[in-house]
Amino acid sequence: MNSVRQSAPQLQGLVPYDPKYLPARAYLSANENPRDVETEIRQKIISAIRKVPLNRYPDPLANDLRDMIAEANGLDRDQVLLGNGGDELLFNIALAWGGPGRKFLNLPPTFSVYAANARLTGTEVIDVPRLVDYSIDEETVLERVGQGDIDYVIVASPNNPTGKLANEEFLAKLLDATDALVLVDEAYFEFSRTTMRPYLAMHKNLLILRTFSKAFSLAGVRMGYILGNAEVIREFLKVRQPYSVDAVSQAIAREVFSERQKFEHGIMAIISERDRLLEELGKVPGITVYPSDSNYILFKLEGADKVWEALYARGILVRDFSHAPMLENCLRVSVGTEKENDEFLAALREIVANK
Ligand SMILES: *Cc1c(COP(=O)(O)O)cnc(C)c1O
Repeated sequence: MNSVRQSAPQLQGLVPYDPKYLPARAYLSANENPRDVETEIRQKIISAIRKVPLNRYPDPLANDLRDMIAEANGLDRDQVLLGNGGDELLFNIALAWGGPGRKFLNLPPTFSVYAANARLTGTEVIDVPRLVDYSIDEETVLERVGQGDIDYVIVASPNNPTGKLANEEFLAKLLDATDALVLVDEAYFEFSRTTMRPYLAMHKNLLILRTFSKAFSLAGVRMGYILGNAEVIREFLKVRQPYSVDAVSQAIAREVFSERQKFEHGIMAIISERDRLLEELGKVPGITVYPSDSNYILFKLEGADKVWEALYARGILVRDFSHAPMLENCLRVSVGTEKENDEFLAALREIVANK
């Protein structure tokens, strides 16, 4: 047959995720750590990989790594689950808590993967849009979950791409207002230095997502994890791909996690560069800068799509949200090295001056 019947109906109208990762001189579009894993840790990684039996299936649950993460967070092994990047766990929450006839509460503008996963699994997406400054419409969210029909909620804190943490008091109220599963996405926790971890003891409906992709320079490896109640984790075990976390990635992540103190200096440098970028961006005429608790900054200016092109023409890749809903004329720049940030600022000042 040289024809094929249509794919599943929930795929109609979905577009494949495209990070628009083009070749550039300065990659400031994907919120990665601008510095790769340092040589000394890299050497340890290489020796660890040498010992990995490639002919054997990996430990499906990555229990060694699970134990390390559990211990670091004062939790038990069964309260931790690894995934093939945080993204896999975001898909698993839609499989385990969503599905036909079920509802996901979304707070746009936010990480687009959440709504895409819901649609893919036939889950209804209920939007409570953020306010003009991109803070959460707390009152409306609490009122909406109070209706009792929401099955899961995801709150990115700090929110991507807008940058700010959610208020802790609001999150605490949310956890009390509903028995929906509440995933707090802490992908940028190492930069925000703020976590909902202490609430796990008293809130069975709280789940926390973290990743190795940002602060720990392992975006290329694919490793993320959730922290939560053991009964919730058990439901995730039912939907996950048994071998999604491969043996090589497990070995790499173990080395990096055990050396995580060594990343602290680089993380602090990113935080201080972020603050410098915030200040300098604020001085560029015609730009609205949104505050950030993370390693990226959202900013808004007239003709943002043209500015994106002009930056790219100078070898600087930032993320274009200028045509995304609720983010008109917005661009997002990831905090790079000092040199990259200087190049970005110089290019932007010049582009704005010549507009
Ligand atoms: C980067 C990111 C993740 C996870 O990314 P992975 O690379 O799949 O671990 C999750 N949530 C948000 C908001 C992110 O920005």
